[in-house]
Amino acid sequence: MILKADTHIHVDQKGNHGIDPIALARRVNTTDLDLIAVLEHNKITTRALIVEAELQRLASITGKKAAQVLWAIEGGLRYRNGGERDGYYHFVHLFEDSFTKYNRPDNFPHKGGPNILEQYKASYPGRTIGAHLTWLDYDGKNPRLTNTPEMTEDLMGSGLFEGVEIVSASNIAFLERTPRNQNFIDAIDAVRDLARMYSRVREKLHKAGVTLAPMASSDGHFERIVGGVFTEFEGGETSDIFGQIDAAGTKAVIDVETPRQYKRHIGENRELRDVVRFQK
Ligand SMILES: [Zn+2]
Ligand SMILES: [Zn+2]
Repeated sequence: MILKADTHIHVDQKGNHGIDPIALARRVNTTDLDLIAVLEHNKITTRALIVEAELQRLASITGKKAAQVLWAIEGGLRYRNGGERDGYYHFVHLFEDSFTKYNRPDNFPHKGGPNILEQYKASYPGRTIGAHLTWLDYDGKNPRLTNTPEMTEDLMGSGLFEGVEIVSASNIAFLERTPRNQNFIDAIDAVRDLARMYSRVREKLHKAGVTLAPMASSDGHFERIVGGVFTEFEGGETSDIFGQIDAAGTKAVIDVETPRQYKRHIGENRELRDVVRFQK
């Protein structure tokens, strides 16, 4: 059976940064996602429980199977590979275990380094996915943190990640909201660059007997984006995603209408999913 997962959806309470848990459950109920991971930046709360309860409630009304909910966190990682500046990256840690109000995992220390992440992974079994790695110079507020393509490639092969998001809908969503088209070409180039980097790293790791799973997520900050970009994997149950990440048996999928503005840059007869063709 082919299962669909969106392993990066925000339910942050702070600011305007996440989706209301009830609204998210309602949205997910209209999609055919089998598994979702809900998370907040740097922090663990119990909002996953609210999403889960609402999904169950909706399932009891509609008779449709409720999507499973994974606990997760999006952390900020300070990373360096020999250069004089540190880079700053986001990652998603998918917990193997479920939690309750009383036994939640610790928050991930903001801008913790690789050692902190190693410890965190040891304390909380799961899989760590590099998030939206196309973003260069991510931390605009701190110009001393400068990501470079070399650093990103190095990080992909560092062993800290079991998978990387080679497609993140947040880039697409961000561009949809930009008033002008000036950034479309950049975005498509960034996606292509990431595809090339991923292929190189995957080949290198393959020779060393290590795998790196290709993943796709909505990085959902608003409901509408959830459902169109996801990771497919073969399995009998949703927890098989962990084994499939280990085997790099996942597939990154874009299943959204190509925004009209993109057509001008990729060709009228082409779809975004054809440009971003670097699945398994
Ligand atoms: Zn992020
Ligand atoms: Zn995110």
